[in-house]
Amino acid sequence: MLTLAIQKSGRLNDATLKLLKGCGIGFVNGSKDKLKSTATNFPIKLLFLRDDDIPKCIVDKVADAGIVGENVYFEKGENLNISTKLGFAKCRLSIAIPKHFEYNSIKDLTNKRIATSHPKILDRFLNEKNIKADIHHISGSVEISPGIGLADAICDIISTGSTLLSNGLKEVDLVMKSEAVLISHPDLKADRKKVLNQLLFRLRAVKKAGNYKYILLNTPNDKIEQICEILPGMKSPTIMPLAEEGWSSLHSVIRKNDFWEKINNLKTAGAQGILVIPIEKMIM
Ligand code: ATP
Ligand code: MG
Repeated sequence: MLTLAIQKSGRLNDATLKLLKGCGIGFVNGSKDKLKSTATNFPIKLLFLRDDDIPKCIVDKVADAGIVGENVYFEKGENLNISTKLGFAKCRLSIAIPKHFEYNSIKDLTNKRIATSHPKILDRFLNEKNIKADIHHISGSVEISPGIGLADAICDIISTGSTLLSNGLKEVDLVMKSEAVLISHPDLKADRKKVLNQLLFRLRAVKKAGNYKYILLNTPNDKIEQICEILPGMKSPTIMPLAEEGWSSLHSVIRKNDFWEKINNLKTAGAQGILVIPIEKMIM
């Protein structure tokens, strides 16, 4: 049995549960106050915790693995493994300053007070840049600290920047990029490691599927070669004759991000009846 710690409520919770569901792992739905749950069809137990507490729980072997943002891992999780990146909760940890602050380079932060809930990451960042500043550790609402005179600048999580804007702040330096990661204890017993590897296999299949689409189209036979060049597929596309003489149906996969650009190329090359379908799992 593997114990996996996940966020009890917050930005990671929904996506984490959805991801586990996508891996075919079912849980009995308990009350919101529930702290533990056991999967009905996989040897895994869930612990619901605040994200900040997850790395320490793994270090202390209360849990074997957990799902947190990389920012929390680097702030709180010494000597654990990042088993895989999960591709959601993408954000960045950045330095931001009030709009009126005259800022030319990171040197302008010398001897300034910087409020953050990530003091360890900020300290490492400033040391690398040889900047001495006064790090003010607060646990939340970092963005309001310049406005209330608590700090000259902040180091905080940003995704769209709208919170900064509404607090009269502007982003000036990137400290790190972050996304959700599966972290684990480096020293797991063999049976737990086996379950972790099974979980990783499923997580990777679901994550990979999310990056691709399945595509079906009809093509004149004399255009197959040209269309195959646009769609190299996983190995090579599947081609089947249509009932109509001189035409084939071609099936392949396409990267989600390439999709609009390739659709235009395919139409220009003569493809018709193009269908693009989501893929649930992808195992290479
Ligand atoms: P907890 O109560 O568990 O301590 P929290 O308030 O510390 O939760 P959340 O705001 O739920 O944390 O954020 C959890 C993680 O989601 C962050 O550590 C970060 O990795 C990521 N995250 C935070 N803000 C954003 C955002 N605006 N967009 C995308 N991801 C974000
Ligand atoms: Mg937290």
